[in-house]
Amino acid sequence: MTATKVTGGQVVSMEYTLRVDGKVVDTSEGAEPLQYLHGAANIVPGLEREIEGMALGESKTVIVEPLEGYGEMDEEAFVDVPRSEFPDDMPLKPGVEMQLTTPEGEPMYARIESVEAQSVHLNLNHPLAGAELHFDVKVVALRDATEEELDHGHVHGEHSH
Ligand code: ZN
Repeated sequence: MTATKVTGGQVVSMEYTLRVDGKVVDTSEGAEPLQYLHGAANIVPGLEREIEGMALGESKTVIVEPLEGYGEMDEEAFVDVPRSEFPDDMPLKPGVEMQLTTPEGEPMYARIESVEAQSVHLNLNHPLAGAELHFDVKVVALRDATEEELDHGHVHGEHSH
């Protein structure tokens, strides 16, 4: 029998809205609820801890500090890249976001912090680093994870992988 309170090893479906400084930055409204495997670090630690023990149908507002969210702003995570390394058609101005590839081939997020005469100053921090996260969450479905999901550490939809 599936439990009616959130605990490790369950697939949780939740409706959520994330606000930072009063502005909505992410929401499931108008889309499918988010499904994740509880206890597998699929979501930020501060939110996962607060959802633990919530009942099916329960709503909650959770405030997550940066350290338990997307981390503090790392002052070391900035690099200068020569202007010549950017495509000619790319707008070079503060706030422009891009995806880079690390030498290992992993995708990496970056945002232009400032543009100098010869170089572009890039911020490699997560866009929500340093932010206090305000989540409104509602648990709308619960089920036990399958062996395979537990093994993989994430939820499988219709398209297993
Ligand atoms: Zn998988």
